[in-house]
Amino acid sequence: MIKWRDVVKFVNHGNPEPPRKVYKTDEDWKKVLSPVQYKITRKKGTEPPFSYLKNELKSGVYKCVCCGEPLFDKYAEFDSGSGWPSYTQPVAGNKIKYEKDTSHGMVRVEISCNVCGSHLGHVFPDGPEPSGLRFCVNSVSLRFEPLTNIQK
Ligand SMILES: [Zn+2]
Repeated sequence: MIKWRDVVKFVNHGNPEPPRKVYKTDEDWKKVLSPVQYKITRKKGTEPPFSYLKNELKSGVYKCVCCGEPLFDKYAEFDSGSGWPSYTQPVAGNKIKYEKDTSHGMVRVEISCNVCGSHLGHVFPDGPEPSGLRFCVNSVSLRFEPLTNIQK
């Protein structure tokens, strides 16, 4: 489980190796993404709060909208009240890249997809236990894939 001390370590000493790497030029990303997706994921945009519909499905996985890498499980999602989708953990320790972000007069930790570099949002140390983390993510940056073959 990733905790805040791990996030600080990644920011200061480097991130884990990603499971794979995807590289495309800006022009190529523009061809496969909508203008809003491009602005948020490739140009570090932020969607307005409360701009997404609550996902009522019970199980599935949120994938990177750019490269399709699975990033967050549905069960790690919680309602933080912030207006952005929030998660307590990524699906694995090497899926997310953590970097210091000093924009807008704040010191924050930016999170992006470790495979393709897509901007996701930020992570904060005020989430629920046991991880204590809140991964605050633009809904535009993720694509939900429901789990369809649930054994009864
Ligand atoms: Zn990605």
